[in-house]
Amino acid sequence: RIWKSGRLSSAMEQTFIMIKPDGAQRCLVGEIISRFEKKGFSLRGLKLVSVDSAFAEKHYADLSAKPFFNGLVEYIISGPVVAMVWEGKGVVKTGRTIIGATNPADSAPGTIRGDFAVDIGRNVIHGSDSVESARKEIALWFPEGVVEWQSSLRPWIYE
Ligand code: GDP
Ligand code: MG
Repeated sequence: RIWKSGRLSSAMEQTFIMIKPDGAQRCLVGEIISRFEKKGFSLRGLKLVSVDSAFAEKHYADLSAKPFFNGLVEYIISGPVVAMVWEGKGVVKTGRTIIGATNPADSAPGTIRGDFAVDIGRNVIHGSDSVESARKEIALWFPEGVVEWQSSLRPWIYE
């Protein structure tokens, strides 16, 4: 086959992407998944889950000292979220670019937050900010592991 492991596989990354409760309520799930799919990234894990406050606090542990922390936890537990793992070359950084700036007021049009959000506290989607955070977040949200498979489109997406 055209694609071989080696140089490319070492560049492969996984990131944790979560559609927040407002994204699910506002029926943005299909649109958001579609943007990652059309880009050429590959889905490795997907589930709709409601988390409790202890779990949300763990996910956002780094922000526990922030004044908006309690509101953030209430927001994340306010309804089901769509937890996903996406794989691809540079997917952590590019995933953040697809998502847009934290504050939708600063998110460029064409990004998910730029197109679908107004308020920082209702910004529709989460994405890991580094390879190391992605590793931790995937372990937290997918303790059962992710799915091992390879898209047949790979040679059409990667040189
Ligand atoms: P992200 O990585 O772009 O999601 O941003 P952060 O990791 O800095 O913050 C996590 C989440 O907390 C953001 O996505 C927002 O939902 C929320 N958040 C961050 N800063 C603020 C703020 O100043 N006010 C409020 N209400 N929420 C915030
Ligand atoms: Mg963050």
